[in-house]
Amino acid sequence: MEANEHKSLNFIEQIIEEHNRTGRFGGRVHTRFPPEPNGYLHIGHAKSICLNFGLAQKYNGKCNLRYDDTNPSTEEIEYVEAIRNDVRWLGFQWDGEFYASDYFDQLYEWAEQLIRQGKAYVDDQSAEEIAATRGTPTVPGKESPYRNRSVEENLDLFRRMKAGEFEEGSRVLRAKIDMASPNMHMRDPVLYRIKKEPHHRTGTKWCIYPMYDFAHGLCDSIEGITHSICTLEFEVHRPLYDWLIEQLGIYHPQQIEFARLNLSYTVMSKRKLLELVEGGYVKGWDDPRLPTLSGLRRRGYTPAAIRHFADKIGVAKRDNLIDVSLLEFCIREDLNKNAPRTMAVLHPIKVVITNYPEGQTEMVSALINPEKPELGTRLVPFGREVYIERDDFMENPPKGYFRLTPGGEVRLKYAYIIQCQEVIKDETGKVTQLNCIYFPESKSGADTSGKRVKGTIHWVAVQEAAYAEVRLYDRLFTIADLSDIPEGKDWKDFINPHSLEVINNAIIEKSLLQAKPGDTWQFERLGYFCTDPDTSHEKPVFNRTVTLKDTWAKMQ
Ligand code: ATP
Ligand code: MG
Repeated sequence: MEANEHKSLNFIEQIIEEHNRTGRFGGRVHTRFPPEPNGYLHIGHAKSICLNFGLAQKYNGKCNLRYDDTNPSTEEIEYVEAIRNDVRWLGFQWDGEFYASDYFDQLYEWAEQLIRQGKAYVDDQSAEEIAATRGTPTVPGKESPYRNRSVEENLDLFRRMKAGEFEEGSRVLRAKIDMASPNMHMRDPVLYRIKKEPHHRTGTKWCIYPMYDFAHGLCDSIEGITHSICTLEFEVHRPLYDWLIEQLGIYHPQQIEFARLNLSYTVMSKRKLLELVEGGYVKGWDDPRLPTLSGLRRRGYTPAAIRHFADKIGVAKRDNLIDVSLLEFCIREDLNKNAPRTMAVLHPIKVVITNYPEGQTEMVSALINPEKPELGTRLVPFGREVYIERDDFMENPPKGYFRLTPGGEVRLKYAYIIQCQEVIKDETGKVTQLNCIYFPESKSGADTSGKRVKGTIHWVAVQEAAYAEVRLYDRLFTIADLSDIPEGKDWKDFINPHSLEVINNAIIEKSLLQAKPGDTWQFERLGYFCTDPDTSHEKPVFNRTVTLKDTWAKMQ
């Protein structure tokens, strides 16, 4: 049993359990989720959130929410609030809420300490000169002519940088490590730069800002983080993370890297998402086609489905591309269990049942959710005129078409078998109405007609119908792997022009006029849908979350 349990631990859990055995952190587990507030969170962040908060829960530890706000140019309050909201929505509550900017004084002190230790210097070279003298992985870099300044001169210059005496770009503080290191990140990395821009929290107090590599590990240290989990591209930064902490002689967390989530048919970097939003390719950060958490929420995804997805993909040490159909599988599974059923018709044709008494209505009963019979039934009004889906009728059907045809019979779900007797068209030849008869003894649940039909279709009674706008979404891109763009092409060239189809006059049951934004439904035979925030009683709006089956898998 124990051996089995051990086997199922992921590699991060194994590291944690090893630390717990050796007592490295005294049995403590304290993680953090450290977003930069420069955009909205996406499904990749959700993976990191589930991992960090999940580990804290599993090991009775803590998890902080830390805004990594060291770059005043790209960060905004709007993003801070959206992040907080999204983490909560996913179902997690942080222990401490902190900002890297809370630690600017301490970080500055540590920078001075490094200068006093002879481990950092002010460099007057421009960014271009620094880049040009860094060398390549096989050729050592060149030492800066300013590298051997005295401690006094460095302290004086750094203080004057802080006091705002120098122009942006004119000087930086660099660590003094090794310009010949095989690891490029150890070739005297920049620790502080001048930026004369107000910060969303510290205002104009600072005009020098710490670089990510300097700030991140030191913030982890301040907060007593035990396991600092980040994505794979930071593996090569780890020697610098460790070096800074060792030089300063402060508490030392363990950085651990895992593979970032890449999802097919979409982009995940905030820079690209911002480009889609600002370029008007989508309608905002919460556009239901985006992989942002606010987009997924608006699309009808539930926190449970996203957590389940994060759990299913697990943590890997190698980058890979996860098929978006796995995410769709997770929401389908959730909504199948939890979404009440209703009938809606996206492209209606009217059926008149000529032998059904005029003015009569009756109630037929349907399970609210066949996956949860304990929820009981709902009553659906049926009458002489109903709408059916245009697709569910074919004048010249191919072999194997089991729905309605001239002279053919089909069951109206939960109600009666009907037979089509007359097809009425307008002057353009478009079918506008089907006249049918029904078989009174064929009522569902009490069928004594002896008839057998192969097809069952959904419908909405005309007297019960209301109009709605229905938005059908498809993949935002036409290619699966956006990291593999052919030469000479831009990733935006692969935006799917048909990613949104709006149906203006879909038919819903009147009872859905009461739906509130975020309510989810299965429209029988059509898919899972949710009420959009744009909805109103006058003009209800629904989003298709996902189809009932994986239609893409079939097409490929
Ligand atoms: P982006 O490239 O989308 O801007 P980022 O890494 O710059 O992402 P941050 O706000 O810095 O975004 O990320 C916060 C946390 O979320 C980090 O710990 C980061 O490793 C993690 N994270 C970001 N993207 C992913 C992803 N695709 N998969 C897993 N974790 C991710
Ligand atoms: Mg980042």
